[in-house]
Amino acid sequence: MSPLNDRIKSRPNDKFFDLPPLPLDAEGLAKDFRHYYAYTFGRDRDSLSVYYPYKALATAVRDRLMERWKRTRRAYDETDCKRTYYLSLEFLMGRTLSNAMLNLGIEDAATQGLYDLGIDLEEITSNEPDAGLGNGGLGRLAACFLDSCATLQLPVRGYGLRYEYGMFRQLIENGEQMEEPDHWLRNGNPWELERPKFTQRIPFGGYTETYHDHAGRPKTRWVGTHDVLAVPYDIPIPGYRNDTVNTLRLWKAAATDEFNLGEFNAGSYPESVAQKNAAEHITMVLYPNDASENGKELRLRQQFFLASASIKDVLRDWIRLHGADFSRFGERNCFQLNDTHPAVSVAELMRQLMDEHGLEWDAAWAITRQTMAYTNHTLLPEALERWPVRLFRQLLPRILEIIFEINARFLAEVATRWPGDTNRQRRMSLIEEGDDPQVRMAWLAIVGSFSVNGVAALHSELLIDGLFRDFHDLWPNKFNNKTNGVTPRRWLAMCNPGLRDLLDETIGTDWVKDLSQLERLVPFAEDAAFRDRWHAIKQDNKRRLAEQISQICQVEFPLDAIFDVQVKRIHEYKRQLLNILHVIHLYNRIKHGDTANWTPRAVLIGGKAAPGYVMAKQIIRLINKVAQVVNADPATEGLLRVAFVPDYRVSLMEVIAPGTDLSEQISTAGKEASGTGNMKFMMNGAVTIGTLDGANIEIREQVGEDHFFLFGLTAAGVESLRQHYDPNSLIANDPALREVMNLLESGHFNQFEGGIFDQVIFSIRNPHDPWMTAADFRGYIEAQERAAAAYRDRHHWLRMSVLNTARSGHFSSDRTISEYNRDIWRLTPTKPQD
Ligand SMILES: *Cc1c(COP(=O)(O)O)cnc(C)c1O
Repeated sequence: MSPLNDRIKSRPNDKFFDLPPLPLDAEGLAKDFRHYYAYTFGRDRDSLSVYYPYKALATAVRDRLMERWKRTRRAYDETDCKRTYYLSLEFLMGRTLSNAMLNLGIEDAATQGLYDLGIDLEEITSNEPDAGLGNGGLGRLAACFLDSCATLQLPVRGYGLRYEYGMFRQLIENGEQMEEPDHWLRNGNPWELERPKFTQRIPFGGYTETYHDHAGRPKTRWVGTHDVLAVPYDIPIPGYRNDTVNTLRLWKAAATDEFNLGEFNAGSYPESVAQKNAAEHITMVLYPNDASENGKELRLRQQFFLASASIKDVLRDWIRLHGADFSRFGERNCFQLNDTHPAVSVAELMRQLMDEHGLEWDAAWAITRQTMAYTNHTLLPEALERWPVRLFRQLLPRILEIIFEINARFLAEVATRWPGDTNRQRRMSLIEEGDDPQVRMAWLAIVGSFSVNGVAALHSELLIDGLFRDFHDLWPNKFNNKTNGVTPRRWLAMCNPGLRDLLDETIGTDWVKDLSQLERLVPFAEDAAFRDRWHAIKQDNKRRLAEQISQICQVEFPLDAIFDVQVKRIHEYKRQLLNILHVIHLYNRIKHGDTANWTPRAVLIGGKAAPGYVMAKQIIRLINKVAQVVNADPATEGLLRVAFVPDYRVSLMEVIAPGTDLSEQISTAGKEASGTGNMKFMMNGAVTIGTLDGANIEIREQVGEDHFFLFGLTAAGVESLRQHYDPNSLIANDPALREVMNLLESGHFNQFEGGIFDQVIFSIRNPHDPWMTAADFRGYIEAQERAAAAYRDRHHWLRMSVLNTARSGHFSSDRTISEYNRDIWRLTPTKPQD
């Protein structure tokens, strides 16, 4: 330690550290804003960039987080509390500034302070790029969970990767998706703090050898590795008005010095630089696949990089506070694995405890099984991660040995429980045998964890009845459900200020921290004057949304139309195709003059397709082509509008959810694990049209069946129909569907581009269509008709809308996190000190 460091440390209470708290009022904020703008960023009146006002305000707000951040860290250290680490390859954070101001309680002060300088706060906040470090629901869930953990003052730290390029930017050209890289860090990131002193070294490649330690015990070491540095960047996660600031730690890959020096001295400078680049590629880009595996070597590198760096960081911290005694580590720490993406952590924790800290197998295994918990996010077989054994052998040889040993011991346990049942052993083996044997990551996660949960009641049931049945037979108590939730700070208080003010006035302000309080709105659903105010707020939000859609899509949504919205990743199981078939049906009715008692409708669809997912991209193209034809036809004026909004992302959803009347949640039953978009819409007073899938079931239970437009097969119905599914006879026998198919097949929406939708059309007529789109068509258009009729009765609709918000309290991620804590983590809420 340097003499300066010693001097600083030896007088912790003098004026070196004890700064007065920063002011939270308008004047104090404006003063700091001007300071950063003029001095730190060197701007003046000629500066045109809209980015610097954002950066100046962000820096002023960050200062206010910094003091609370330190005090939170100190409280966790000094109380020596149990901790949880949320390991996730994705954190879909969106923007930070508005949320930080809301949680600090300085929104009004900032608005006033900037107003006094002649600046509109909204103009500043809208210049922040989204942190798009995730694909969709899974990554956004991780972000909502961090907000709830900080709000509940739980000692939880997120661990993820600091991708240089987040989720791609989606453009639509001639109806087709184009992808553009998202260099979100180009202008710097005011929210991150580099912590180089916590850099870790992560091994790859090489080979293993055995040796005897000083006590003569046989040991293994992993040698000849090509190491990559993991450099942490910390992001503050403020709780809601409670002075807690938790941490999201994101790792960036960097080359070690050997890359620069060794090869250089050997005279191969370009090779040296190339290797350095290869090391840094690990965190270059987020894989843009949602609900399907990637299978690329670089992806496995990312997974191990996150697991290894995070575990090293946790063990370092443990040793700092407790020394190298791990006897109580298991009871004081928990790792929550967000899907199987970080599941290699099971073997990596074993490796570090044994090879780096000298523990024996049994002690290390006891700790692993006491600390790891796994959340499953999908039943889709294409999403189940498996890695070739040969890839493991080449990239992570020591990890493969440990997986083999875990498997041998586990299969012995299975054989003891079910002697002679070799089929069961084959099914449950962590290694899938075959020409190219594979490591089953979900099995590794289950065997290595004390808790396995699904994300909605139906999903958790389907898991133990199906995919995880053998494991449930063996360990029934390991399995549990934690229905997802979303944070009411971002998804109601922040994104819907009109509704927030009405709620505050009507039921007080406690609902933001205790969303079950929304129940108190129920009686107001019967109050006509209240409903009128509710309507005025919804119409304002619809105006705000319509303005955005007009700007982005050049499509005009009339405000008297029902705003019918489906935004989510484009996937066949989510059935955007069913939605567009309904749009074509409505268009067909208009063309036939069948418009008596018509409800004007504005249909909005948005979402990204994985770049390699051909069918999803064709569906986007179809939506855009149908929109062009419908919107250009004078017959549809005032009756029907359709828009595909490009680049669906968190900040766009913050405008979409408050302006939506009808929320489309129409997946094939049994396929959507939970959904969380459905919850954001419900909170903002949208009524759902949906299938009995994922959390829709619980949404319907909460709001009541009369306030939800249900249609379609059940999960069991889908499975039993599969045997004899005959879409062509459904089409032949349903005039509406027949006419829709006729329009599609006659090329009505692709006049000069014959054949471009053949695959999509074929999928509807395919008896093996896994998503059974045709089976639910009739039920869907009838439910849409009921929704349209309900919307025409304004006060009836408003009543439903109020009740949806009123009954949405269950879907706060605060409730979800309380359950994780009660059943899995068992952490003690801990307040920051002084
Ligand atoms: C909430 C959210 C999702 C998840 O939506 P689902 O409808 O549950 O699939 C995906 N992307 C973004 C940007 C979100 O905000």
